[in-house]
Amino acid sequence: MKIYNTLTRRKEDFIPLEDNKVKMYVCGPTVYNLIHIGNARPMICFDTVRRYLEYKGYEVNFVSNFTDVDDKIIKKAMEEGVSAEEISTRYIEECKKDMQGMNIKPATTHPLATKEIDGMIDMIDTLIDKGYAYNVNGTVYYRTRKFEGYGKLSKKNIDDLEAGHRDEAHKLKVSGEDEKEDPLDFVLWKPKKEGEPSWHSAWSDGRPGWHIECSVMSKKYLADEIDIHAGGEDLIFPHHENEIAQSEAANGVPFAKYWMHNAFLNINNKKMSKSEGNFFTVRDISQEYDLQVLRFFMLSAHYRNPINFSRELMESAKNGLDRIITSISNLKHLLQSAKESAITKEEQQKLDETNIFRDKFEQAMDDDFNTADAISAVFELVKYANSNSSSDNTKEYIEHLLKRIITLTDILGLIVEKKEEILDSDIEALILQRQQARKEKNFARADEIRQELLSKNIVLEDTREGVRWKRI
Ligand code: AMP
Ligand code: ZN
Repeated sequence: MKIYNTLTRRKEDFIPLEDNKVKMYVCGPTVYNLIHIGNARPMICFDTVRRYLEYKGYEVNFVSNFTDVDDKIIKKAMEEGVSAEEISTRYIEECKKDMQGMNIKPATTHPLATKEIDGMIDMIDTLIDKGYAYNVNGTVYYRTRKFEGYGKLSKKNIDDLEAGHRDEAHKLKVSGEDEKEDPLDFVLWKPKKEGEPSWHSAWSDGRPGWHIECSVMSKKYLADEIDIHAGGEDLIFPHHENEIAQSEAANGVPFAKYWMHNAFLNINNKKMSKSEGNFFTVRDISQEYDLQVLRFFMLSAHYRNPINFSRELMESAKNGLDRIITSISNLKHLLQSAKESAITKEEQQKLDETNIFRDKFEQAMDDDFNTADAISAVFELVKYANSNSSSDNTKEYIEHLLKRIITLTDILGLIVEKKEEILDSDIEALILQRQQARKEKNFARADEIRQELLSKNIVLEDTREGVRWKRI
């Protein structure tokens, strides 16, 4: 399997540090608002990477943080007159709902920056002890020039960076950062301002800089050295460059072996972003489409290519996904009339013929997760299944065909089985049956009916006026 590594700008064979195990960290969102569909791109792409690694037999320890302390969160809290914690807790919950809708597996651990402050203070202490950081009036800075490999991920030359900063003397003065030894130095810890959340430290009551959070959470929940570190391409500089400088200086080992970055989701060929105001939230999209369509749309492009969001592309994603869903539902329908007898030789041969589509799928995914080509292989399999199945087939054969399609769509995280709908009239009939069962003191049957309805997302409520029900 090959992965494109931003660090070397090449596709490399994937060899994990430990046999059969993968340690993977994905930078998560800053939680001050509903996530937009640009934020959803790394979530969907790297969830698919994880699913494919698991399919290949790796045990994946997948860590993705929530940045729950940040200027934007504090600003929003002040606007609403509530605490920063209330804002971050609210939007973490909302983000988790969107993730569930997009069928993104929960991470092995979802650490919160505010719960990891002790670890950050420890790492900053280590950096000061090793001469990589210094305290000026309660602000701790990283001494960027001291780290020899600075710029190795973003391929930036430190002297060019310095030149870019020269005009900034005035800006630094205004922001109070003119006390830095060098304009290239960045903040590890800053003193609190009035009304801001803060934690006690030897330097000042204050809060951590953004970059130190990920270095610490990755170290704590994975290891000093990990296999894959990922995020959107805007994070390459300065966020990931600074994470490398912090972690490698503090731990004395390489930070991550493979660096993966997704390209932007654009709108009218401009990056979708909150600050530009040109965004759709995942919630907006869910009003119009099943979020599986959004997932399919994202995976229709390779994760390193930019994609331009448009209605037309969403409609074509919807049609593509529907083709798979229809095929699955037809095969399920055939199961009802298919023969109980053992699979025939001819059928077995046909199943063997479908191996080619699975192989194509794997080849595409092995080539730096080319989900666009992987989807084409799924379409070929679906087409084959459609034209090689009928009510003359055995159940066993149809079941195998179904399983083959679903195995592949599961890797892409696409839910292709139709949810069973239950009609209001059927619900009412079951409620009557339940009442009858209770009259006859057949409580086991009554419970069974309640459970059956619950499995179809119907909850019953026994009130004085009778039984009420609602869909959840
Ligand atoms: P943020 O909350 O801005 O830190 O972003 C969370 C994640 O979403 C990061 O990995 C970003 O790189 C990524 N991201 C933000 N906007 C976009 C976009 N328009 N396209 C793709 N990824 C994005
Ligand atoms: Zn990060």
